[in-house]
Amino acid sequence: MAANEKESYPWLDPLMPPKCVSDNPHTKRTRSSDPPPELPTSHVAYTDVIYDHLFLPLNQLLGNVCPEQAELVRTAPEDFLAVVPYRAGNGLFREKGNQWLNQDILAFLKTLRFPGVVDEADMALADLATTTEGATPSQVEAVLQAQDEQNPDTKGMQTFAIDKVLTFSVLEFEPTQFSWVISNFSGDSVSCEVEGEILTAIKHTLWYHNEFCFLVDKILTKAGIPGTVNDHVVHVIATFTIAFFDNTDEWGWPATIVQLHSKPITMDGEDHQAYLHIIRTMRFWVDMVQLKLAESIDCQLCKADTHPTYGCPFFKMEGWYGLTYDGAECH
Ligand SMILES: [Zn+2]
Repeated sequence: MAANEKESYPWLDPLMPPKCVSDNPHTKRTRSSDPPPELPTSHVAYTDVIYDHLFLPLNQLLGNVCPEQAELVRTAPEDFLAVVPYRAGNGLFREKGNQWLNQDILAFLKTLRFPGVVDEADMALADLATTTEGATPSQVEAVLQAQDEQNPDTKGMQTFAIDKVLTFSVLEFEPTQFSWVISNFSGDSVSCEVEGEILTAIKHTLWYHNEFCFLVDKILTKAGIPGTVNDHVVHVIATFTIAFFDNTDEWGWPATIVQLHSKPITMDGEDHQAYLHIIRTMRFWVDMVQLKLAESIDCQLCKADTHPTYGCPFFKMEGWYGLTYDGAECH
């Protein structure tokens, strides 16, 4: 496309409200189905607290799982649910032990007696082995083998915070959904006071970046979405949002991080990686200061990549009986 066509194209206001917000799996809430999941009928009292919905993409959930088990899950993801303990890692396993933790989780789930669960004897918890022998799985601790239709309420409740050790989330394996996180940036220009300038700089740069436009057009055309290359680029960029985290550097000085999100534009793994790569390697300038690509953000508690550990929303919620994080460091 000639440069002048880009110049004359009626690009949207970069600060228009983002589109497709309701599709974002990272910002949903638990118990949000209509009607909401029924509360368990067991004698075990359980809460109807609504938590943030935890979304971890399938590749992250199965990231370091041995191929034999990962293959089984990939073949029939609807037959399994992932069990992710809060704060999963060496500290938790030293305190409790994998086996004991699994038994406690399974015993607890069986006591719930959700109306939808036909036969609790069908529920089994299998430990997941890692690709490297001796390594501790850092993400998924176990898979719950249970037919999909038997567990709509378990999935709807999702997070169970019983006590400081027995706290976990039950997640679906979603093969067609990627994370909405694109990248994290830091640098002197990153401050929430200039949110509009940062979002504008990113969108302007992408509108005029030929390689990015070509890739987006190729992917959307392949998916049968009508429109010109510019229409396709606008369609994609209209879902962009940014979020800020008050990180500090190793000396304690402010080192704010900005995280860029968009709705994934494809369900094809290779195309998705190409899309991420092109944005992550691009240069964005805000008032002559370049945004610096920062490391990924990972919450050590719930394992989400949408907030740092100190920003974890779970332990700050009313009705939370799980572990609370008291670390003061923000880097
Ligand atoms: Zn978290």
